[in-house]
Amino acid sequence: MICPKDIRWICGEIWTEQGSSSGCIDVLTGELTDKTTGNTLDLTHTTLIIFPGYADIHVHLRGLNQSYKEDEYTGTKAAASQGITFLADMPNTSPRLDTPEALDLKLKAIKRKAQIPVKPYAAVPQNPETVEKLAKRTIAGFKIYPSDLEKREASIKKILETGKLVVLHPELPEADRLEAESISQRGTIRGCHLEGAAVDILASLSDNKPSKIHVTHASCLETVMKAKTYGFTVDVAPHHIIYNYDQHLDISLYKVNPPLRSMLDSHRLLQLIIEGRIDIIASDHAPHAEWEKNDPLSSRPGIPWLEAWPSILRRILVKPGALSQQEFFQLTVWNPRKLVRVNTWETIVVYDPYYQGRYTGSRYSKAIPYYHYMSEYYGEARCVYWRGRLVYGEETRIFSTAR
Ligand SMILES: [Zn+2]
Repeated sequence: MICPKDIRWICGEIWTEQGSSSGCIDVLTGELTDKTTGNTLDLTHTTLIIFPGYADIHVHLRGLNQSYKEDEYTGTKAAASQGITFLADMPNTSPRLDTPEALDLKLKAIKRKAQIPVKPYAAVPQNPETVEKLAKRTIAGFKIYPSDLEKREASIKKILETGKLVVLHPELPEADRLEAESISQRGTIRGCHLEGAAVDILASLSDNKPSKIHVTHASCLETVMKAKTYGFTVDVAPHHIIYNYDQHLDISLYKVNPPLRSMLDSHRLLQLIIEGRIDIIASDHAPHAEWEKNDPLSSRPGIPWLEAWPSILRRILVKPGALSQQEFFQLTVWNPRKLVRVNTWETIVVYDPYYQGRYTGSRYSKAIPYYHYMSEYYGEARCVYWRGRLVYGEETRIFSTAR
């Protein structure tokens, strides 16, 4: 059996923020109900579950002049294949999304190509007067990069007054001026103090201003603790949990900003996740062409994640019982949706939580294939609907075989 195209209701085990219960959902309107009138996919006697899908609030879909790396179609198709149904897209594109014109180009590309809901972030504009124009568009919020802290302080102050979400890359511009010869040297000289300092600077600008501040890809325990003392929310990226420089990884492929830290640092992050002190997991999916990743000196930072991260992290966190299913959903479904204010049941995912497989490279993303350490999957998306339309899963066999 394949995922039906013309379906109105799906019945079975439905997960909401309150927990799981059996019931039915209207695929078109997202309403939960216990009654259906025909055209129903009944999953009641299967081990499949129904939920709105993961939300990834930090991805680089590229597109525009960088469509050779990834675009709004390939990236969203890759996401849907993992059961990710919302993306917030970063603005360090070409052109950069710091003008209304560039932002409109991006919004048009999303409308034309995206297979799931996507909101872009706006970048910090040079002129503070432009802030208001950017804030009026359909954006997830504003993204602050290290160089903005140095050069665009007036615009940042203006942004903090808009009430829009502000997401910080927690490093200082000094970090990019440091040259490292190995992955461990990178992780050491581009130190945790640079993350903490960036959080302090933004906190000093944000005094009593209405915007909510979120610190993305925190890679050190100190950064998380500091962000929390200011009342900011925090996410961590899969690579800072799974990888560390003690694993002696390839400096080109595994170059990321902030850098990979020590094994102790990644274990501390894992511990914070298990203790419930991290708000969100976000991937920082950062695809590049092969020629941009194969030279240690000029390699661009970033790891592609969209076709791997939820199932790999479920294998590490949920399968051994470190997190319950609902605790994992809190970090990957409910909290990210609340932060960027996404309509929760606009999308519906039929998911096999017991599927076991292995990441074998990209099927939809243009990103180069990676060997992912501990790459076993636990869980698989079977059917993905967006406002009643089947966007992924047509050819997939949907019934689960065994627990
Ligand atoms: Zn990023």
